[in-house]
Amino acid sequence: MSKFSDHNFKGEKALVRVDFNVPLNDKFEITDDNRMRATIPTIKKILSDGGSAILMSHLGRPKGGPEEKFSLKPLVKHLSDLLGGVPVFFANDCIGEQAAMTANMLRPGEVLLLENLRFYKEEEKGDEAFAQKLAKLGDVYVNDAFGTAHRAHASTAVIAKFFAPDKRMFGLLMEGEVASAEKVMHDTQKPFVAIIGGAKVSDKILIIENLLERATDIIIGGGMAYTFMKAQGGKIGNSLCEEDRLQTALDLLKKAEAKNVCIHLPSDSVIADKFDANANTSTAPSNSIPDGWMGLDIGENACEQFSNVIKKSKTILWNGPMGVFEMQKFQHGTKTIAEAIAGATQKGAFSLVGGGDSVAAVNQFGFADKVSYVSTGGGAMLEYFEGKELPGIAAIKG
Ligand code: AMP
Repeated sequence: MSKFSDHNFKGEKALVRVDFNVPLNDKFEITDDNRMRATIPTIKKILSDGGSAILMSHLGRPKGGPEEKFSLKPLVKHLSDLLGGVPVFFANDCIGEQAAMTANMLRPGEVLLLENLRFYKEEEKGDEAFAQKLAKLGDVYVNDAFGTAHRAHASTAVIAKFFAPDKRMFGLLMEGEVASAEKVMHDTQKPFVAIIGGAKVSDKILIIENLLERATDIIIGGGMAYTFMKAQGGKIGNSLCEEDRLQTALDLLKKAEAKNVCIHLPSDSVIADKFDANANTSTAPSNSIPDGWMGLDIGENACEQFSNVIKKSKTILWNGPMGVFEMQKFQHGTKTIAEAIAGATQKGAFSLVGGGDSVAAVNQFGFADKVSYVSTGGGAMLEYFEGKELPGIAAIKG
């Protein structure tokens, strides 16, 4: 593979896989353009070198044929604005004559956006012939779509083989994501704490199992903590519990002990008499929650307990909130953890926040620029930390 920043795109047509899977309202207006913004530096570098950029993306989940509501056309004007007025052409089809002709005529400094890749079912199937047709459009392949790096699709993985190693590379966004993930996983400064929260144990078993091989400490918060509490004989009232995962929770605790990994569960909880923003609240030890009450956030002692672990760590990975942070009464735990991570980062720790809801939380509480890296790829990041090889990364590295 080639390094993006070292590559000179002068005179080249760069075929760039971006993640422009942005939400559109019923007037086809973009309601959140973060994914587009994230890849602008990559496009700008190609253009300023004297190259042109051919962008390909998916949008939504079309059923395998063209559907107006999933067209990328409404993005053209905004993309041009984000690039400072650069001309952006659009091809109504991602392959075929029009795409090939427009790509051919593209001049340095110009951009072509191709229509939704998923209008072809071949995209998600990872079809080789389809990938080859796409590959013909560009001289060099750049993957900047970390959010789909865990999918072995035609445009994210299969396509790379049609480019020589020095003509395929990560874009700046993807480069940052991969470097941060690798720093946590392979270049780990100890102590390493993984903070895992969110609703369900079942979603996080693989990541916890993999982290048991690497972490010094694992903090478990959020709704999933109560399955662990109950498995150990605790009373959890109406708190979230996955009855069919009680044994899994015990097994994880046993494995952690054998591997000398310290698992931290919240000693106390903020409890509520119903799942409601205006519920009556109180606090209780997390293993003796009264009947009719449920744990919706970690308590003050747990905040201190977890913050102390975070403060002494040199590497921090955070995936999943500590409580129902969407409701004001239950956001204190998540906020406190974000604050502790920011503090540790300021003192030199490397911190990576990955996974939809913890990312939303750091953004909401204003901590995004106080941690080392905020990942844009929820599912991809999770699979990376589950120890899986991501096809989008492997294909570039070759
Ligand atoms: P996940 O997608 O698995 O990371 O879960 C995130 C969701 O878990 C958020 O919407 C939180 O509101 C929810 N959550 C966190 N803690 C709790 C809890 N104690 N009880 C119920 N839901 C929770």
